[in-house]
Amino acid sequence: MPNNLRNDNLVKVTSLVANLPRTTFVGFESLSSQGQIIALFDEDWKPINKLTGHGWVLLNKTPFFAEGGGQASDRGYFEKDQQQISLIAVNKDVVAGYFFHKVATNAKTELAIGDSLNAFVDEKWRHDSSKNHSALHITWQATLNQLDHFVDEVGSKLNGDKYQLQLANDPSLTPEVAWEATKHVNEIWIPANIAPNIFEISPEEAKAKNYLYEFTKVNPWELVRIVEFPTIITEPCSGTHVKSTKEMEQIYFLDFERKAKSIVIDMTANYDFAQQWFFDKLVTKIKTLVDKMHQYPQIDFVDITEELMGLEKSWNYLSIRRVNALVNDITKRINQFEKEQVKLITAESQNPANWNQISKGEFVFWETSNPNFTNKILLPLAINEVKKANRPLVFLNTFASGANCILIKPASLENDLKTLAQKLLTKTSLKGGGQPTLIQMVSNEPLPKQEIYKIFEK
Ligand SMILES: [Zn+2]
Repeated sequence: MPNNLRNDNLVKVTSLVANLPRTTFVGFESLSSQGQIIALFDEDWKPINKLTGHGWVLLNKTPFFAEGGGQASDRGYFEKDQQQISLIAVNKDVVAGYFFHKVATNAKTELAIGDSLNAFVDEKWRHDSSKNHSALHITWQATLNQLDHFVDEVGSKLNGDKYQLQLANDPSLTPEVAWEATKHVNEIWIPANIAPNIFEISPEEAKAKNYLYEFTKVNPWELVRIVEFPTIITEPCSGTHVKSTKEMEQIYFLDFERKAKSIVIDMTANYDFAQQWFFDKLVTKIKTLVDKMHQYPQIDFVDITEELMGLEKSWNYLSIRRVNALVNDITKRINQFEKEQVKLITAESQNPANWNQISKGEFVFWETSNPNFTNKILLPLAINEVKKANRPLVFLNTFASGANCILIKPASLENDLKTLAQKLLTKTSLKGGGQPTLIQMVSNEPLPKQEIYKIFEK
């Protein structure tokens, strides 16, 4: 029901159309038709005689499929006097049997009761919807065929982009089962070029033949429309379908979600939609991962890289799931590598051969030049050495792009590290601080050692 249709308006609309003929739907046979305007309403469902801009049009005849049985409405447009009129929505639920078309005209077009309108269905959208609708019927059956028991269908949804199977949450229904069903449809049923039989029977006959007819909405003046894909499935259905399964070409398994009470499986027979889906969720993601791995030429990623190259070409949900699992593997390897790097650099920092020791005033300077020797790496060395020395120490690491240093002293000595640190902050590019016994400083610019010596030699 349109959400701006208030109850009092609904009563008015219902009584107004009661005297009018029902809309003839010709959209199963034809994608265009001429219809006559038999009533007009503004955006708020007030009856009007003339319409320019946005409003609702009731026609005696239409080719536009209106949302029902899970299938979304057609897209398309109208034409009057060479002016195109946009179709925004179609609704057949406001009053059963009547098709209301939400339209938008341009400023110079006026619609009046009695006017004829030429209606044109968007053929690509309709064909994609029909492919997805037909695929939905046979995928549902292919999925059940993989299991040794029945699983309830909770609902279904489809449009030109994709179709969705909603089934009861059954533990034996896994993504692997959905993938087997996908392969069966693609390898057996689509190439078999099976044409559906579509016919109408009485509600009594539908009940007697045990078709799940209670799910189908049938108006009292209508028969039950049955769609049979011979050897596969027979169901009541009011949607649009392909002439033969080969038209679907190929279906793609897009997504699988297990919820508390249901399982939602997304698929499509629309190649363009599948291509965009897997470009976003597979190709782009894999490219990001490959770039990431390239940042670590030291790590062996050959197995993962090879697997990703295969997954990139395998368009299905299982590939997306596998890529997400490989993200964890990659992260684990990188973390492991970085941990080992820290170990190696720490060991290297503790090798006396990498240091030059000189006295400056009361301090002993340990000097080196290695951008990998951060203060974090140097801290264990500093703490260990100050225990052995009965003097305050300065660990000074200067390199092309910057410097870092640690000032440390035994707690028993009186030296004032804080005052020294204050001088370093004002007279050099070093930044940082600490406690009376331990100061850590860093510079992001090159730092001449002479600047530091002067402060300690005074
Ligand atoms: Zn159908």
